[in-house]
Amino acid sequence: MTSANLSAANPSSRPHAKARPLKPGAAKPAKERCSECGLCDTAYIHYVKDACAFLNQQISSLETKSHGRDRNLDDDDELYFGVQQQMVAARKLEPIEGAQWTGIVSTLAIEMLNRGLVEGVVCVQNTEDDRFQPMPVIARSPEDILAARVNKPTLSPNLSVLDQVERSGMKRVLVIGVGCQIQALRAVQDKIGLEKLYVLGMPCVDNVTRAGLQKFLDTTSRSPETVVAYEFMQDFQVHFKHEDGSEEKVPFFGLKTNKLKDVFAPSCMSCFDYTNSLADIVVGYMGAPFGWQWIVVRNETGAEMFDLLEGLIETQPVMSSGDRTQAVQNSIPAYDKGVTLPMWAAKLMGVVIERIGPKGLEYARFSIDSHFTRNYLYTRRNHPEKLAGHVPEFAKRIVGQYKLPEK
Ligand code: FAD
Ligand code: SF4
Repeated sequence: MTSANLSAANPSSRPHAKARPLKPGAAKPAKERCSECGLCDTAYIHYVKDACAFLNQQISSLETKSHGRDRNLDDDDELYFGVQQQMVAARKLEPIEGAQWTGIVSTLAIEMLNRGLVEGVVCVQNTEDDRFQPMPVIARSPEDILAARVNKPTLSPNLSVLDQVERSGMKRVLVIGVGCQIQALRAVQDKIGLEKLYVLGMPCVDNVTRAGLQKFLDTTSRSPETVVAYEFMQDFQVHFKHEDGSEEKVPFFGLKTNKLKDVFAPSCMSCFDYTNSLADIVVGYMGAPFGWQWIVVRNETGAEMFDLLEGLIETQPVMSSGDRTQAVQNSIPAYDKGVTLPMWAAKLMGVVIERIGPKGLEYARFSIDSHFTRNYLYTRRNHPEKLAGHVPEFAKRIVGQYKLPEK
């Protein structure tokens, strides 16, 4: 019997078994920087000081634990996108209707369940009366997984089902999540009693509370109540999908930034794990041509997962063109004044971004540079004592390419 099995079989041997989750509404250990990842809603709160992404930044050591090594800071692709075996642009041959993009995430989860690789999938559905109110679940059927498709663009307590995972006795589980959730998960994964954990990550940036989301929709969309999904796209517009299938596009420079000034959650203003460093495989869109998804395979487990997509997706190599650096540099004074929307700021600074045209991986670097410099200045302004420890080395290097205003 492995040590993981042993601890699952004997609950009293688990130090966290007696820990009590916080009561709903209670202040979280990370206070205003809490991203509501869900860990503190479980007995795993016992490990919060070590595990919380906002209390203990440990990306480098968790990279080594998860991938066998940390990222090579001298390799530009790894510096930006993390430990990797492969990056590729992909899209489903038969897209899933109602998915955020073409549905690669849901497809991979369904394949893993159908082929018996996992017994359950941690993912997030929505509540019955609110399509954007996240409701984390352990999906045990393809229907459950499909019911979780499309982004709930709000902070989501995905890890709140960890106690249920442990109690269920499942031994092989897939967890789908964004960076802060996955950092905390990696820190406690040895305590859950699993034989195999698979992690499917998504990039994530600029998330909001449910109330913040409403404010964003109300001030930006022509019909907030019919929005079913939206995305900040590579063409520098927000694309809203509506219930009737119609699409609405709002240019970043048209956003009402005075009203949206404080809309992003403080956790996301101090996050440096945009590309989900610790997942086995990452599925997003930012490094791919418009309309395609972007896949980063980080380790052997991720490669095993990627192989399951054979015959279900078409692929093309990732590409990169344009030059982002001047646009990012020109935006920095605006971030220093507390402007929170990077793309909008770039536009405001008079940079004709379409002409400079960062495309593919260069667009992804543009977005990372913009968000990291903004978040670095935010952390320096609001939590100066945390700056040195909270900003990972790779982010310090990225931010270090730019001239920042004096303190
Ligand atoms: P689908 O098949 O539709 O599946 C979506 C999956 O997302 C579901 O399994 C569901 O469980 C999960 N999910 C939904 N909401 C949440 C949530 N709030 N937290 C955790 N998991 C959730 N990609 C980029 O390249 N750049 C970005 O800046 C970026 N920001 C994102 C911000 C958020 C909040 C989220 C959730 C995703 C973001 N992504 C980003 C990823 C991208 O938008 C797509 O989710 C991804 O490409 C998968 O698309 P799909 O069609 O394969 O997903
Ligand atoms: Fe707890 Fe997660 Fe909030 Fe950190 S981010 S305080 S681990 S709920």
